[in-house]
Amino acid sequence: VELTNFDLNDLLGQSRKLATKLVTEEIAIELEPCAEPLYILADVGLMQQIVFNLVTNARDAISGRGSITIRTRRVEADGGALTCGCSATSGSYAQLSVRDSGHGIPEEIRGRIFEPFFTTKEVGKGTGLGLSMIYGTVQRMNGFISVHTPPDGGTEFVICIPLTAPPA
Ligand code: ADP
Ligand code: MG
Repeated sequence: VELTNFDLNDLLGQSRKLATKLVTEEIAIELEPCAEPLYILADVGLMQQIVFNLVTNARDAISGRGSITIRTRRVEADGGALTCGCSATSGSYAQLSVRDSGHGIPEEIRGRIFEPFFTTKEVGKGTGLGLSMIYGTVQRMNGFISVHTPPDGGTEFVICIPLTAPPA
């Protein structure tokens, strides 16, 4: 693990290449980076792994046509719930969200998806380690992860990581 202070939006640029390799042309990849830079102290390779895992899960949830939207924005903790649904005492966060138009996560399993080795995929198709890796990594960065069901269906994973000052 090598921590660097970098702009999360730079990672989003690289994510397009990565995501495009993972999906067929039936799935549209939409990138919506925010206008301002979002500096975080993190391991670039681990952050790419997070995006890779979330996009792979999104792809696996879509049959036929669909879309995957990767978005960033800045959110402020106000002592209660952050707009991303995570809760924190104070501070500014970089938010990364990956939303898909897939089949969604059934209520009955929502509480278990972050457990190591929990998978609903066939043997050989999933290890059940993707989300548990993300959970651990985000926690070590003092961040938060949450999962939502958008009103029009599918799934949205939202990650918040504390913002740092831009490098001098
Ligand atoms: P794996 O992908 O190897 O199954 P993960 O830890 O990445 O393991 O995910 C665990 C389970 O959570 C998946 O098997 C699936 O049931 C569910 N899941 C994760 N992401 C999504 C998603 N975007 N849409 C629907 N279900 C999902
Ligand atoms: Mg996975």
